[in-house]
Amino acid sequence: MQTIQNYINGELCAPVAGSYLANFEPATGKIYSQLPDSDERDVAQAVAAANGAFAAWAALGAQGRSQFLLKIAAAIEARTEQFAQAESRDSGKTITAARTVDIPRAVANFRFFATAILHFSSESHFMEAPPAVHYTLRQPIGTVGCISPWNLPLYLFSWKIAPALATGNCVVAKPSEITPMTAFLLAQICQEVGLPPGVLNIVQGRGNKAGQAVVAHPEVKAISFTGGTETGRHLAVTAAPMFKKVSLELGGKNPAFVFADCDFDQTVDEIVRATFSNNGQICLCASRIYVEKSIYEAFKTSFVAAVKKLQTGDPLEEKNQLGAIVSAAHLAKIKEYIAIARSEGGTVLCGGDEMNLGGGYFLAPTVIENLPLQCRTNQEEIFGPVATLASFDTESEALALANGTNYGLAATLWTNHLQRAHRLAEALQFGIVWVNCWMLRDLRTPFGGAKDSGLGREGGLEALRFFTEPKNVTLKY
Ligand code: NAD
Repeated sequence: MQTIQNYINGELCAPVAGSYLANFEPATGKIYSQLPDSDERDVAQAVAAANGAFAAWAALGAQGRSQFLLKIAAAIEARTEQFAQAESRDSGKTITAARTVDIPRAVANFRFFATAILHFSSESHFMEAPPAVHYTLRQPIGTVGCISPWNLPLYLFSWKIAPALATGNCVVAKPSEITPMTAFLLAQICQEVGLPPGVLNIVQGRGNKAGQAVVAHPEVKAISFTGGTETGRHLAVTAAPMFKKVSLELGGKNPAFVFADCDFDQTVDEIVRATFSNNGQICLCASRIYVEKSIYEAFKTSFVAAVKKLQTGDPLEEKNQLGAIVSAAHLAKIKEYIAIARSEGGTVLCGGDEMNLGGGYFLAPTVIENLPLQCRTNQEEIFGPVATLASFDTESEALALANGTNYGLAATLWTNHLQRAHRLAEALQFGIVWVNCWMLRDLRTPFGGAKDSGLGREGGLEALRFFTEPKNVTLKY
């Protein structure tokens, strides 16, 4: 059985306490590796290493740091298959998704920020009376914390680490304890490319122990977090008295609106993808699907037929479109929500049950109808292969449904009516609106959610700004 290690001050090391957590393979339900159950002592060592590395890393300049990030990207790319296999086995996601989405995107994250930093600029303002120039320096913050979830393990881990390092910070990072493997492989890559010790430190372990210690450490100046809304709330309370900068990317309850004038067949296919990719375990997945009344029955028939055709099974087998749910606990949570939906009067159109496939955590993709907006199924994040289907009549009804939860991450509109698309996009209380597409990402765009879906934005300039401290300098002459 493989033992995952922490990566602190350039070394792969055991946790101070010497204790480990079991790491389960979702497709089999069996333990296949173990990871450090790190605590505040490991975090303290990581922070000390990061503090020690900071001056030299910042002084290296954008060009020098960029070179290291490019080397990391190339080294991951060269081992794409190894990373993809590890990600699939660790998280239960399909090998195809790991090969085509997760690992390429992790590579792209490092490349994007390696080059973005070379084009980063700050403001300057010329004042006429009295004559003066005001310019803004964007300086690294120091040691920062990056905490990521299990659903897109290396993809989201690198999405934080890359801009933090590019801007000259040193990092203490904590991946999810449920999917620790590719972060461990990344540590090996950092050693391979000769990243200076202490620049990146990876502390593995539980959220309420290792993660909490990162957030609570007074010398960690900023926290970039992606995860659940309740965790984000708790984290914000810990960080606030120390006036830490926080970026919170949290949960969602994303609606999709299908209008009668959409491209019907293409929309059905895309909504299947938007709803069930990675078993619905993407924060951006659609979970509430609203269809204009005149095409509701036709859409329902085609959509449910397409969902029934999805092949669920061993994530390492290429023929399968859906793999395993990430953990036994998460499977239990999703099943509980399906029971809640039934008790709320929902009709299960397909799926609804666990699948008995070799002891792993499998669930048939599930579509439910006949539920009002105000019920737990339509208000709370389920984060699994479960979606509700309902009809709407008018644009204003659609808008009320869309904005009628506490979440505001991503909404999609499926229509060929240009004015309507713009009108609704403007009125939707969401951080992201996709029209006739889903998860079409450009790394330069601001990424994140409104309302309980988060605080701040990642991506492009937003990330470079988050990880730097602005300092204004005024020169009167
Ligand atoms: P989670 O909140 O349980 O855990 C996320 C990370 O935080 C993990 O590394 C965990 O160990 C750590 N953590 C837990 N408690 C902590 C604490 N007290 N202090 C510091 N760290 C702590 O979330 P999850 O179950 O891993 O991920 C699923 C959630 O993430 C869903 O709600 C999903 O919507 C959200 N998510 C959001 C986005 C986005 O960009 N908005 C992207 C992906 C996932």
